[in-house]
Amino acid sequence: MAGEIEEVVSALESHLQGRKQEVAILVVDPQWDFTEFGSDILAPTVGTLPVPGADLRYMQTVNELTRKLKDCLNAPVWVTQDWHPIDHCSFSAEGRQPFVDTYIDAQGKTQRVWPVHAVADTPGAMPFLPRELIDHVFYKGVDPEVEAYSSFRDEAGRWTGLADELRQAGRSIIVLYGLATDFCVLYTALDARELGFEVWWLQVGSRGVFIRDSQSREQVEHEILEQMRTAEVHLL
Ligand SMILES: [Zn+2]
Repeated sequence: MAGEIEEVVSALESHLQGRKQEVAILVVDPQWDFTEFGSDILAPTVGTLPVPGADLRYMQTVNELTRKLKDCLNAPVWVTQDWHPIDHCSFSAEGRQPFVDTYIDAQGKTQRVWPVHAVADTPGAMPFLPRELIDHVFYKGVDPEVEAYSSFRDEAGRWTGLADELRQAGRSIIVLYGLATDFCVLYTALDARELGFEVWWLQVGSRGVFIRDSQSREQVEHEILEQMRTAEVHLL
């Protein structure tokens, strides 16, 4: 683990030589509800929507990676947090099955139902990343009627304001990782590219759900990589 982190950080450092002042580190949804560990240290329980592989070791990796990146790149850390009202449209309720693409949103798009997760102000919505590593917090998914995967744009197509925040801070290069690869990380990466940011996606700091009807995990992973490559996201 330590070796892999060192490798990624030093590769990134050499790629971004002379442009460090343009870098922002963006950690997507590093929240207890998405871990296989849970928010209660004294009585560990699984988060309500655990991403496979987001275990204690993964959390340590993210913490270590963020600390090293912050030191080496001298870059600010933005953390996004899913921050849902209790009646959020994506939640399984009234007999709706989680993990199934079932409901049609106001835009006519079929959306997936999830177990209740990341409810604003609950322990599960808090970041597991140590506070001292976080410079900026960005909340998403606060509208009960609208799903929000990308940090830059919700599923109703509305921009969130994160791009303006980054630009105002003079940051045009995004170092990206977090949870989950095939939803919030992917959509954030694609929107960032569309908005003209240079994006470096760190696989070591990401884990995915990779569940879709009739497709194997490998197929979904392959498709995600292709989408990233087509959008010219740099992979490390
Ligand atoms: Zn959510």
